[in-house]
Amino acid sequence: MKAKASLLALALSSAFLTQVTAAPLTQVEQQMLHYIEQHRDSQVAMLEQLVNINSGTGNRRGVEQVGDTLRPHLEQLGFDTRWVDLPPSMAHAGSLVATFGKAHRRVLLIAHLDTVFPPDSDFQAYQSSADRRTATGPGVLDNKGGLTTLLYALKALEHAGRLQHAAITVVLVGDEEQAAQPSSISRQALRDAALQSDIALGLEFATSPSQLVTGRRGISAWQLSSRGQVRHSSGVFGAQAGFGAIYESARVLEVLRTTFARSPGLTVNPGIMVGGRSAQLDTRHSTGSAQGPKNIIAGQAQIYGDLRFLSRGQQRSAEQTLRDIAAAPLPGTTSQVEFHDIMPAMPETAGNRQLLAAFSEVSEAMGTGSLTAVPALERGGADISYIADLVEASLDGLGPWGTGAHSPQETLELAALPIATGRLAIFISRFLDR
Ligand SMILES: [Zn+2]
Repeated sequence: MKAKASLLALALSSAFLTQVTAAPLTQVEQQMLHYIEQHRDSQVAMLEQLVNINSGTGNRRGVEQVGDTLRPHLEQLGFDTRWVDLPPSMAHAGSLVATFGKAHRRVLLIAHLDTVFPPDSDFQAYQSSADRRTATGPGVLDNKGGLTTLLYALKALEHAGRLQHAAITVVLVGDEEQAAQPSSISRQALRDAALQSDIALGLEFATSPSQLVTGRRGISAWQLSSRGQVRHSSGVFGAQAGFGAIYESARVLEVLRTTFARSPGLTVNPGIMVGGRSAQLDTRHSTGSAQGPKNIIAGQAQIYGDLRFLSRGQQRSAEQTLRDIAAAPLPGTTSQVEFHDIMPAMPETAGNRQLLAAFSEVSEAMGTGSLTAVPALERGGADISYIADLVEASLDGLGPWGTGAHSPQETLELAALPIATGRLAIFISRFLDR
């Protein structure tokens, strides 16, 4: 599988080279691809520099250092840049926001500065393979590959005289991997930028050379608390003692399973459960405890789980179903369910599919094949999900591809960098003329 993937990358890479002068691309577009090809080494050097700065989400200083490394490059291109800090109590770096131009149609570019690897992780350094086909390192794919893709696409646009016609806002978020709560504060800068923009493009990594992300599922949490009467076990099932909290929560789970197991795009997962005469659940630390002898009917049971959905409508309807299930308890018991929004869905829309089609055209003209959508079920949430409903259309997964994101095997296909960069530059250039 791996050998196959790198052969494909090689094939794409040589196709990329031969197609630079091919017909469907305009002269300006070819000029941008030449620029990207000529600056391949400097793009990789910048990637190496960024990867070697530890920027685990909690390492505020390191995250800011990644932003401060990119900042002069953006300013050199004519962008106005500023840090939008979070309140000190949130302890995370804020977002670096860069704006350019006053054209009628504004493009929002989203990427993130942080990684999941803290300063004490064993995985700290950039390393390229002996054949220079791949590189490993913390964030090499997620999302430092995306950051360098974004920067060199802008440089190529500037080089070809196209940037001057554009209106672009770049938001580089400091804590994508673990958004400081509440997200109404930590994603305010992103939301403000989206309100001023027409389309949003996310530079999250791609999982394949031929797929982009037109939709992402949203995530919320649910907590079920069931109560029963604490009596001797000999009375269970009886009219007086009832069924107890454990049977009641088992009833809810069984109805959930049979109701939702076949709902396309929706998943409801109980992650942790405690029950007994008494039970305590600590959802913050994902732990809990319970006490109770075997001959006592359970007085308390608690379940904490997650809910994943394709749209707000699907989320709200699933929540209502859960409430209805909880509202019909077994005799002698009660159930209550609470919900907590974590991340909205990025619903798949006609506008998103149009952006995908436009990127696919660009990719075909470059000789790197047509592009299709990754099934939303295969991609979790990302920052673009917070603002998808504020723009006309959005598309994600525009960074380079590779494998092992969030693991110590995080690996980038180096041939993907110029291809992803070329696709983005040419798409933006074409968008200006629409
Ligand atoms: Zn990411």
